[in-house]
Amino acid sequence: MKRFIRAPMQHNMRGVSPKKQFEGLRATELYCPNCKASMPVRERLLLVLPEGDKYEYLCARCGASLGDRIVKEAPKPALII
Ligand SMILES: [Zn+2]
Repeated sequence: MKRFIRAPMQHNMRGVSPKKQFEGLRATELYCPNCKASMPVRERLLLVLPEGDKYEYLCARCGASLGDRIVKEAPKPALII
């Protein structure tokens, strides 16, 4: 049994934003040391790896690289051809 916690509206961890901020894109913000603020980032595909696609995050304002991450393929429902 998981504990069921009702999170307050302002504290949404992921995915449950009431507004759609960008068309089809996740709105991500990372702290940018150049801008000294949390900035929206642009996602850029760096590499396609066997374990997933590696994206780099660039500050939307100054273009600094703020990090990267590997986006694994979304687990698909069992669909065996
Ligand atoms: Zn920046």
